[in-house]
Amino acid sequence: MTYPNTQLFINGQWQDGSEGKTLPVVNPATGLEIGTVAHASRIDLDAALVAAEKGFDTWRNMSAQERGKIMRKAAALLRERATPIAAVLTQEQGKPLGEAKAEVMAGADILDWFAEEGSRTYGRIVASRANPAIRQMVLKDPVGPVAAFTPWNFPINQVIRKVGAALAAGCSMLVKGPEETPASPAALIQAFADAGLPEGVLGLVYGTPAEISAYLIPHPIIRKITFTGSTAVGKQLAALAGQHMKRVTMELGGHAPVIICEDADIELAVKSVGGMKFRNAGQVCISPTRFLVHHSVHDDFVKAMGQLANGLKVGDGLAQGTQMGPLANARRITAMAELIDDAVHRGAQLVAGGHRQGETGNFWAPTVLADVPLNARIFNDEPFGPVAAIRKFDQLDEAIAEANRLSYGLAGYAFTCSLKNADLLTRKVEVGMLWINMPAMPSAEMPFGGIKESGYGTEGGPEALDAYLNTRSVAILNA
Ligand code: NAD
Repeated sequence: MTYPNTQLFINGQWQDGSEGKTLPVVNPATGLEIGTVAHASRIDLDAALVAAEKGFDTWRNMSAQERGKIMRKAAALLRERATPIAAVLTQEQGKPLGEAKAEVMAGADILDWFAEEGSRTYGRIVASRANPAIRQMVLKDPVGPVAAFTPWNFPINQVIRKVGAALAAGCSMLVKGPEETPASPAALIQAFADAGLPEGVLGLVYGTPAEISAYLIPHPIIRKITFTGSTAVGKQLAALAGQHMKRVTMELGGHAPVIICEDADIELAVKSVGGMKFRNAGQVCISPTRFLVHHSVHDDFVKAMGQLANGLKVGDGLAQGTQMGPLANARRITAMAELIDDAVHRGAQLVAGGHRQGETGNFWAPTVLADVPLNARIFNDEPFGPVAAIRKFDQLDEAIAEANRLSYGLAGYAFTCSLKNADLLTRKVEVGMLWINMPAMPSAEMPFGGIKESGYGTEGGPEALDAYLNTRSVAILNA
C-alpha cells in the first residue's frame, strides 16, 4: 500500500518548505513511519498570504454559479477518487477503511450543498421610512481571506466544512492542516486544483501549529479565523483573534450527555449510541460520552453495552472486518490509561476493556465503565477515546442538571418514548445539537456547532455561510 509524502500548496503549486524541513508521519496501526510532511517557514507563510489575497480578488469577482461549478466538479472528483483517498486516510489516521470512504463521500455531499447554497446569498431592499426616493440596500460580501486550523480526527471532513462555506461565500482560505494526517487533506486540495480552482483561492500549509497561528491570526491579510480542536487551544486562538478584532468560528470540544429515560427503548438506545460510541475509536467531538441511565433500565443497558464492546473487532483499519481501528496517536493511549485508572481508583466498575491491546500500534480495547463517580476525571474532561462512562439516575431533573453541569455544550442524546420528556429535554438540555431516539445525523443543511465552552458559530446550514459574509448597509437618494 503506497503512501505519499505531502508538500505545501501555495499559489496553485505543490512545493517543499523553503528551509527543506519535514515532519514524520506515522501509521498509528503499526507505529511505523510511512512518509513525511513539509514544514512551512515564515517565507512560505508570507508567500501563502500574498497568494490568498490575490486568490480572494479573483474568486470574489466570479459569479456564485461559476464558483459553484468548480466546487461541484471538485466534489465529483472526490467521489471518483474516494477509494484511494480512503486508503491514504486510514494509513495516517487509523479509522477502518469503510469509515474513511464514508468520510470522503459525505465530504463530497457537503461540498455540493454549499456549492448550491452559495447562489442564495442574497441581500435585501428595505423601504425608507424617511423618503420613498431613498433606496436602502443590505449587501452581503465575503469577509476576505480566511485562516483555517483543522485537526486530525476527520482530516477530510473538518477541512470540507470550512472550505465549503468559505468558498461558497466568495472567500479564499489558507488551511493549516493536521501534521499527523496530512496526505488526505492534500488529496482534497488536489481535487480542487484539478477542478480548475484559480491560483491562490486555497492554500495548504503544515508546520508548528502554535507558530503558524501566532503569525497568521494577527496578519492584516487574514480577515477571519476558523478553528476546530480542543477548548483549551480554541480559547487561546479566540483571545488572539479578539486582540486583532478578527471574525471567529470555533468548533471545540464536547462531553455529550446521553440521557436514557425509564420509558426508553433500550435496544434502540444501544444500537444508536453504542455503535456511535466506538466510531473513529471515540475520537469524535460529538461522541456520546456521559451515559446517564434511569435506575430501572440501568443494568440491562450496562450489560448490552458491555456485550457490544466485547464483540467489536479491533485491528488495522486496512484489514477486512475491522470495526474499530487504533487511536490516532500515542497521546490518546496515555490519556485513556490515565482516565480509566482514575475512574477505577475512585470506585467505577470496569465492565469491558480498560487496557491497551497488543504490543504495536495505538490499540485500546473498547471500554465500558459503570457507577462512575461524578468526581472521576472521565466525567469532567473530554475523553476523546473509546470509553463509555455510565451512571444511574432516579429523576429526570437530576439527569438534566448533570447534563448541564459541565461548561461544554456541543452534542447531546436522549432516549424516551414520552412526548412530555422529549419536550422537556429539548427545552432544558444546554447543547448546540440534540438527537432524541436516534444516533447523531449531522448534514450539510443543518447547523453544526456548540454553545457554552464548546464554541461559537456553526459549520452547517445557511448560518455557516453567514459566518463568512459581512453585512453592509447602503442607502442611495435618487435626487
Ligand atoms: P491539542 O489541543 O494539542 O490539539 C488539537 C488540535 O489543535 C490539533 O489539530 C493541533 O494541531 C491544533 N493546535 C494545537 N495548538 C495549536 C495552536 N496554538 N494553534 C493552532 N492549532 C493548534 O490536542 P491533541 O492531543 O491533538 O488532541 C486532543 C484534544 O483535542 C482532544 O481531547 C479533543 O478535546 C481535542 N480535539 C477536538 C477535535 C474536534 O473535532 N473538536 C478534534 C481533534 C482534537
